[in-house]
Amino acid sequence: MNGTALIMICYTITLLDQIIPKMPASTEPRAFAHHDHEVCATSALDAARRACIARGLKLTPVREKVLNILLESHAALGAYDILEKLALEGFRSQPPVAYRALDFLVEHGFVHKIERLNAFIACTHSGEGHSPAFMICKRCSQVAEAMSVPISTTLSKAAKAIGFSIDKTVLEAEGMCPRCRQDDTP
Ligand SMILES: [Zn+2]
Ligand SMILES: [Zn+2]
Ligand SMILES: [Zn+2]
Repeated sequence: MNGTALIMICYTITLLDQIIPKMPASTEPRAFAHHDHEVCATSALDAARRACIARGLKLTPVREKVLNILLESHAALGAYDILEKLALEGFRSQPPVAYRALDFLVEHGFVHKIERLNAFIACTHSGEGHSPAFMICKRCSQVAEAMSVPISTTLSKAAKAIGFSIDKTVLEAEGMCPRCRQDDTP
């Protein structure tokens, strides 16, 4: 594809963006865009609650609290930070309880582990089966989650060609978010 075609596509996407009213589309990476985070957090929690009911899973108070802590912002939090916040909010549970709650949330896709930071974020497409790609801001630790379909497909093809079977793909890109880039401009 040449440069002009690429610009045309970008232009079309921008136009579409302006025409189609902003919906809380679940596939849209929201973290770095201006958005009402309260609505974003509430809908993610609702989606997790509904998914638990539909899948016969139990969202215990400690599991819900851990998810709520991660939904406070789009910044990734380490397990130790989560433990501290849990204790502050009156959940003086033993670390294993918090770790088990985290494991549950990760296993069922309500929370993602960011390997690069050894930290966690709440999923913004809760309940859907997906293999996301993460964009990590190295300054503010905010993480945006994008659907990784095109990259995953390319990788799957490459793997298939050499007879390799992929169990898990981790896609993490590190850089600077729009806000931090702006702060950086003199
Ligand atoms: Zn948000
Ligand atoms: Zn997700
Ligand atoms: Zn940032």
